[in-house]
Amino acid sequence: MHDLLVDLANLARDERLGGVDTADWARVDRVLSHWRAHLNPHSNWLLVADDNLARDFGTAEARDRWTQLVRSGELISAPDADPVLLERARTTGASVLSHDGFVGHRRRHSWIQGDAEHFFRWRVDQGDQLAIVLEPMRVVGDYTMTRAAEKDERKARGFGTRDLVDGPLAQMYRCVNPTCRASADDLLQVMPVRVSGRVACPECRRPVVARGPRPPGRRLKLLLHEQELDVVQLADGQQLVLGRGPGPARWDVALLGADTSKISRDHVRLSIRGGQVVAEDLNSTNGTGLARWSPSRRAWEPAQKLLDPTTLLARDRLELPGSLVVQQSGLRYVVPDVQ
Ligand SMILES: [Zn+2]
Repeated sequence: MHDLLVDLANLARDERLGGVDTADWARVDRVLSHWRAHLNPHSNWLLVADDNLARDFGTAEARDRWTQLVRSGELISAPDADPVLLERARTTGASVLSHDGFVGHRRRHSWIQGDAEHFFRWRVDQGDQLAIVLEPMRVVGDYTMTRAAEKDERKARGFGTRDLVDGPLAQMYRCVNPTCRASADDLLQVMPVRVSGRVACPECRRPVVARGPRPPGRRLKLLLHEQELDVVQLADGQQLVLGRGPGPARWDVALLGADTSKISRDHVRLSIRGGQVVAEDLNSTNGTGLARWSPSRRAWEPAQKLLDPTTLLARDRLELPGSLVVQQSGLRYVVPDVQ
């Protein structure tokens, strides 16, 4: 049974620990012998790493050590190490040695939020003294989690942040492979993937056809009693009315039942202008509340009645009667799904 899971890439690449190569065993040995000397003399650890870390070790000897550790079961290597490491941590309760906050994994691994007993970090001070400390995990909001998850996703699919602005992710695509279920949509609703340098469908991995520039957009989440009900993706110039009753560009709250009886027929309009969400109360009977996020307090201010059309900031919440809430997601790759 392992009591410690080591984020090997994080540790082997940390230049503050000395060593010369991009990835260096000297760093790993230094920190793990400190762990054994000061934290747990009987520790039985497991190293976890991405497959591609192997080639960052500079010498044939260092790469041989990798191979031997994999063979002996002391090192697990996977295409994407983080989910493997976190799943083990969750099921075994082992500690984790890493500098990563794993923010992008927190929707799946909610146990990380505020955890104050499992995550350890190493520190090197100016006199080159090493210390290993327990690091309580900060609780992060949904917006931050979504954004971090998308960043991880983007990396896994072969794209960088620049690609969103002026690269392949600034375009929209269509899958034209008739045997692929993604081809049913006029526009690919999910982020494409890079396969052998070409932009491809994540379902069938065949090249996709560009369908023009992707307009700036936002993804909105509708929550009822803090449970996510639906997500709506809107692009610049599009709008959505929340209210009672069906229709184009409307979200019919009557479908939710009794909870929403205080919501007006035309309650609030959400539109995207210049990539920002603008909210406008449509003279609703019971009004719409706007709760602004306070970065200094890391909490929402009490809701104020929405009087004029207002541009929402990233983490603001719109509160409708009956515990219906609208929030933005941190997603940046947004393809409109409302015409
Ligand atoms: Zn496809």
